[in-house]
Amino acid sequence: MDILNNKKTPNKKAPNNKNKNQSPKNAPMNLFSKITNAILIIIFVSILYSLIFTGGSKPQQISISQLANDVSTGLVKSIDVQGDDLTITYNATGTATSSASTTAAEPITKTTKKEEGVALTQTLFNYKVPEDALSKVNITIESDTGFSYWFMNLAPFLIPLIFIGIFIWIIMRQMRGTGVQAMSFGQSKARIILPTDKKQRITFADVAGAKEAKEELTEVVDFLKNPKKFLDIGAKIPKGILLMGAPGTGKTLLARAVAGEAGVAFFSISGSEFVEMFVGVGASRVRDLFKMAKNTAPAIIFIDEIDAVGRVRGGGMGGGNDEREQTLNQILVEMDGFEPNEKVIVMAATNRPDVLDPALLRPGRFDRRVVIDLPDRDDREAILKVHSKEKPFAEDVNLRTIAERTPGFSGADLYSLMNEGAILAAREGRQKVSQFDLIRSIEKVLMGPERKSHILSTKEKEITAYHEAGHALVSSVLPFADPVHKISIIARGRAGGYTLHLPFEDKKLQSKKEFMDDIAVSLGGYVTEKMVFGDITTGPSNDLQVSTALARDMVTKYGMSEKMGPIALEGEGGRAMFGRGVDDKEYSDKVNAEIDAEVSAIMNGNMKRAEEIVKDHRKALDAIAKRLIEKETIEREEFEQILLANGIMPKKKDEVKI
Ligand code: ADP
Ligand code: ZN
Ligand code: MG
Repeated sequence: MDILNNKKTPNKKAPNNKNKNQSPKNAPMNLFSKITNAILIIIFVSILYSLIFTGGSKPQQISISQLANDVSTGLVKSIDVQGDDLTITYNATGTATSSASTTAAEPITKTTKKEEGVALTQTLFNYKVPEDALSKVNITIESDTGFSYWFMNLAPFLIPLIFIGIFIWIIMRQMRGTGVQAMSFGQSKARIILPTDKKQRITFADVAGAKEAKEELTEVVDFLKNPKKFLDIGAKIPKGILLMGAPGTGKTLLARAVAGEAGVAFFSISGSEFVEMFVGVGASRVRDLFKMAKNTAPAIIFIDEIDAVGRVRGGGMGGGNDEREQTLNQILVEMDGFEPNEKVIVMAATNRPDVLDPALLRPGRFDRRVVIDLPDRDDREAILKVHSKEKPFAEDVNLRTIAERTPGFSGADLYSLMNEGAILAAREGRQKVSQFDLIRSIEKVLMGPERKSHILSTKEKEITAYHEAGHALVSSVLPFADPVHKISIIARGRAGGYTLHLPFEDKKLQSKKEFMDDIAVSLGGYVTEKMVFGDITTGPSNDLQVSTALARDMVTKYGMSEKMGPIALEGEGGRAMFGRGVDDKEYSDKVNAEIDAEVSAIMNGNMKRAEEIVKDHRKALDAIAKRLIEKETIEREEFEQILLANGIMPKKKDEVKI
């Protein structure tokens, strides 16, 4: 039961923190392949083992009595004694008594074993071999110092040791986990895109909109392309550029585009990757990364989500994170350490510039800051165009309309909208993406997929219908609320039903009156449930959370409370602002109590307003709810007809003023 108010409300955090580009690591898969490796090694070792012990082709083995017989009859040329093993070489011409009567020219050899600890001659005497026959045989005794002798003796100890060693090695690899695959890049986990890699190359043409940002960055591109021009005239080019903007606005994309435009190597690493696993790794990764980049210069080092390491130092939760601080310090050291003519530029991205350590923002570090805004309508159209390449469209597709309907969408949202549209078309077996596919995708991106299987009981359906009708009605009556585009009681994502509000235009500024109306609209569902059914369900809980948070921001951030006056008690990022730790108490219990009182005054006042509207227009409310129960979804035109029939003028474009 959500109100979809697609404006930028201060607390809205887009959940799209997509990090493409990240090498997928699949831990179970890794383990599996390592086990397979280990098994292969074991098989290999045992094959080796058996080869050494049995030799290639086996000579025929005979009994010792046979040997005695052969010696007596003068067939044996020589005997080689090695320990208890005897290798017998026969006279080539003589025919062995045994079946092996091959008439080959090469000498025939056979093997046998003598009794342990008894001399060979003694054994042969025991078999009554005549002395003169024995004297014709050439007997050589070899000492047991050969490799196989040692191996034989040590094997019982060595083999288990080897296995244990392999086992430990595998475990170690497993523990270091992801670090290993990057060993080719030294210690650093950076991904690198070389200018020769044409497939991965991204240029400014791939980034739609963001005109100001591109203009600022053109300078950097110029420098990287032609550093001499700048250095000759004594111009200093910034070492560090910080890209700031909401998630999905194309920061990563833009950084890559700079490298692509300039044709330089692009090293990218994410802030969170510095802090993985073992302590001490972060700082050395930074060192390696900078070293690599300098060797490849000109180059760009891109540190994505730098807030993961670059937060205000010394005030973190639980006494701070040493690892993070060391990593951050190392980044600062490296940035101070290189000369402007080094042709390495560090770019970083964050969506939380407010929490960054001030040291990062000092001159000589990230002193150049580029803000990337959410795209406006024209930019949205351009982004949609970029992502409509390779997608066959039906004639009815009008990207302008889609752009108009998507205020507040980031580039990443628009990208996934296009993708969802194509998926819908493909799923329904069509060759082309139609406008209707794209329109349905807007809601899907906003709220998650429809859950048609989420079947409501008749009673639940009625409650949901009235709840949403309450939102829609209040929104239509209040002058500063956004007009209703669609109402639905089909569950979507986590919401049981929804009312889709869209402003006519993008808004950069929001007024107190708008906020107040927004809160009243949020409470519209709540008061309707109470009034119609005399009871309250868990349905409005999200509405209450969102509107309370907004009311609180009005008091503590925007100076919109009469009682508190023009004070900003909190910065954009919440209480951890201004370099202070989270646990610093920013205001006294007394102030806290005043804030709570003001918030609840705002909430109660707006509840009264919503109640009055619902009471005054009970007939309209019933009509909307009835239609919703019948049809489950009402589009804007139909909704406005119901309003008109009940004496409420629908909003016109020019009526909505700031
Ligand atoms: P951020 O790093 O700001 O969170 P990304 O650069 O990762 O956002 O953007 C995610 C995706 O959104 C990009 O891969 C791209 O497909 C799309 N996108 C974002 N902004 C734009 C833009 N201005 N033009 C074209 N595509 C964009
Ligand atoms: Zn609701
Ligand atoms: Mg990013």
